[in-house]
Amino acid sequence: MALFGRKKEKERCPVCGNEISFFSGIVVRDGTICSDCEKMLRGSFDIETYYVRRLNGTVKRKSEDPLNDMTIEQIKDMIDTQKEQQTRSVSEHGEDFAHLYVVQDYFTIAPKAVDVGLKRARAFKNKLVVRGMVQSGVFEQGDTVKNIRTGQELLILELIPCTGAVDFTTELHARIHKKTASVNTNAWLVLDAEYDAADENDLLVKE
Ligand SMILES: [Zn+2]
Repeated sequence: MALFGRKKEKERCPVCGNEISFFSGIVVRDGTICSDCEKMLRGSFDIETYYVRRLNGTVKRKSEDPLNDMTIEQIKDMIDTQKEQQTRSVSEHGEDFAHLYVVQDYFTIAPKAVDVGLKRARAFKNKLVVRGMVQSGVFEQGDTVKNIRTGQELLILELIPCTGAVDFTTELHARIHKKTASVNTNAWLVLDAEYDAADENDLLVKE
């Protein structure tokens, strides 16, 4: 499995089956996966939350990458679970709503004016941020979405796509992100709502 191991046959990515070119890919606990899969995983999954909640992992330092500690089996399982959830959501609600987003994690923010500007600091104070995946359609900053469980309508004050490269705070402060997120990608939504407006696995929808 090692990158400098026997070179008789080309190494194949255990997730997608494509060849892994020399010096590319990322080492996980029991193998190497290709850089396309790495990019897909970081953009479509909340890996750290999954690692901590589902696999009982711990991330002590910010520099630690949970993906390095996951096994290929766990990675495949994470992908399958999300696909199943997506299929279920679309079959249950796809006829009524063209746009579906599933919440994976949530927290509140109270950013400082010096970091985000006075206007945004006021607008975002104690507001709810959800992180999740677009299961169908596309979501945009300024959209009003409905939480299917509660029926509550929620305005998206800011939408920040998750690239996996930087964390939420960095993105929020940098303000150079795209304002839309399309199917199979992850995004943070700053909602004009309080902490209890969304829960894990809630579906946010748009007609
Ligand atoms: Zn791959």
